[in-house]
Amino acid sequence: MTDPAPPDLAPASADAEPRGVGLVFDDRYLFHATGLRLIEDRDPYPFAEPEPHVSGPALVGRAKHLLDLHGLTDRMVRLEAMPADDAALALGHTPEHIRRVGELSAGAGGDTGQGAPIGPGGDRIARLAAGGAMAAVDAVMTGRVRAAYALVRPPGHHAMADRGMGFCVYNNAVIAARHAQRAHGADKVLILDWDVHHGNGTQAAFAADPTVLFLSLHQDDLYPPGWGRFDQLGEGLGEGFTVNVPLPAGTGNRGYLDAFARIVVPIARQFAPDLVVVSAGQDASVLDPLGRMSLTTSAYRDMTTLTMGIAADACGGRLVLLQEGGYAPTYAPYCTAAIVETLVGPTEGTTPIPDPYGPRAATMPQSRELGLDADRALDRAATTLRRYWDL
Ligand SMILES: [Zn+2]
Repeated sequence: MTDPAPPDLAPASADAEPRGVGLVFDDRYLFHATGLRLIEDRDPYPFAEPEPHVSGPALVGRAKHLLDLHGLTDRMVRLEAMPADDAALALGHTPEHIRRVGELSAGAGGDTGQGAPIGPGGDRIARLAAGGAMAAVDAVMTGRVRAAYALVRPPGHHAMADRGMGFCVYNNAVIAARHAQRAHGADKVLILDWDVHHGNGTQAAFAADPTVLFLSLHQDDLYPPGWGRFDQLGEGLGEGFTVNVPLPAGTGNRGYLDAFARIVVPIARQFAPDLVVVSAGQDASVLDPLGRMSLTTSAYRDMTTLTMGIAADACGGRLVLLQEGGYAPTYAPYCTAAIVETLVGPTEGTTPIPDPYGPRAATMPQSRELGLDADRALDRAATTLRRYWDL
């Protein structure tokens, strides 16, 4: 007589019960305090009213609200985040950075580097974000779930080894990829970064590492300055395993889908990862105050479907999405919810989550047409990348 395998470790097979999708969320993510943009010495504005920081808690909180409202949370496997310990943070950071964040957190808070503020106690929340990314990796790599969305805060992809940057304290994607390799024996990890900004911290961490392919779609020369040019290709053994696709401001749904067809999907297939990690920032949306791209929820659904296809072909569907940016207060949450709805599948008997941008979303020229400058940018990137990949 044989005992049935424990459900958590059941291997993927056509006969097995379809496994669920994991969700990492913790109320404490909403307490990460970025503060007010205090106006000092009339710079840059002379206005008396302080502005809330763009990276406030509503963006993640509202996305969770939509998942609850549309019945998605109930259909997902809740994954609990534990705070990352020093050893886990050391997968991506220097001891000095970890110590400095701890000291700021024990005091009044402050900037952990360049524009990455925390409030009192913020170290624990940043550790909980990194730990949430690790929990998503654990659940996917052990087969407990087929995919997972980590709705974490603060984000991570700008954080460098030795400092926080651009709202990011610890680099959740770097720690997730290294954790998959060390703890679960993943040989190769693809990190697909579709945040509108460049994931400089992630690129820097893996520049010389051919086992982690960093592939970024972003607005050309937005943030940080100088990062993400198409000729930044990695170094040493890692040359060719950094792939940058800078796109001109205004690029819409059609341009991103062409980038997937011409560059992302072919390279991902040839790389054949054991795990796909997405740095999922929804700040390339048409209403984002920090980017000038024109994506609507439809593009986020399509990019999710294509990425699920990459993971299905390469690695049994193993896919982890990590929340990065997304600053349109009422629209970014819908983009995130559309991604999760695509992962989980629509709830039976309900209508899909709507696009609040309405019919305008489908009729924008950028949704259907590829601009000449976007076409040229894709050609330029592809021409360079043909030295390393069959495109
Ligand atoms: Zn961003």
